[in-house]
Amino acid sequence: MTDRYAVFGHPVAHSKSPFIHRAFAEQMGQDLDYEAIDPGAEGFAEAARRFFAEGGRGANVTLPFKEEALALADEALPRACEAGAANTLIAREGRLLADNTDGVGLVRDLTRRHGVPLAGAEVLLVGAGGAARGVLGPILRERPRRLVLANRTPARAETLARAFAALAAETGVKLDVQTWDALRPPFTLLINATSASLAGELPPLPPELFAARPFVYDMMYGAAPTPFLREAARHGAHTADGLGMLVEQAAESFFLWRGVRPDAQAVYARLRAALAG
Ligand code: NDP
Repeated sequence: MTDRYAVFGHPVAHSKSPFIHRAFAEQMGQDLDYEAIDPGAEGFAEAARRFFAEGGRGANVTLPFKEEALALADEALPRACEAGAANTLIAREGRLLADNTDGVGLVRDLTRRHGVPLAGAEVLLVGAGGAARGVLGPILRERPRRLVLANRTPARAETLARAFAALAAETGVKLDVQTWDALRPPFTLLINATSASLAGELPPLPPELFAARPFVYDMMYGAAPTPFLREAARHGAHTADGLGMLVEQAAESFFLWRGVRPDAQAVYARLRAALAG
């Protein structure tokens, strides 16, 4: 029987995960099914239990179910515990394991695809939602010199900073929270982990941050640059969207499920071309 995988989300029709995982499977000569399942706003736990009871081997989980996915699993692996959310479920020996591959996906995209060093960097991470939490640990372990968190609701950034204070101390990173207007250059790397672009908005960062020519990254992606990336490029910054992170987190999920590492770069190129239409 063909092994079954799926991505759960609400909505999920826009998800690129079926494209990516089918491309990985084709590339690696593996026979698997990968479908997109929208269980409705309330239906995740029941739909996921049914999927795995019927023999599902693994799943990706996207908004808004990542926290529920962690709660559903029999065992949360360290990356999912740290992130407080799971984007990957793995059926293994009758048990359901939860992992989170978003952080490693971002780190690989930045350091390998874009050649942006994190070690010794001065990083501004904008946002304090699930995506920011998921990448914070992996970024800290790369040992930037300084990591500043800024969020529209500063209290959420403070909570995040407290949750990661011990890891920052262990890795020797100066971890701070700042309000928009207190932010001052230089930063070598700005990461937008907000969903502002969805509303066609951008976090109100002081323009001089861009003028210092940092590398500017938006976790969102699409056919056209996000408002945040357009603003950064207008000031002459180098920019990248989150498409590479998406492909890298998927490659890590594929590895967890199948034990082989696909060629993420080839699939990234295909997906970029497909997005451009
Ligand atoms: P959440 O809903 O958990 O958090 C949203 C964050 O965005 C909060 O910090 C919120 O601030 C902030 N925000 C929302 N609107 C605005 C605005 N208009 N101005 C300033 N800040 C705003 O979402 P996630 O953290 O899960 O996801 C964030 C983004 O990351 C999404 O766009 C998602 O698509 C992307 N993502 C990409 C991935 C990839 O593989 N490329 C993987 C995971 C996520 P506040 O706290 O004040 O509400």
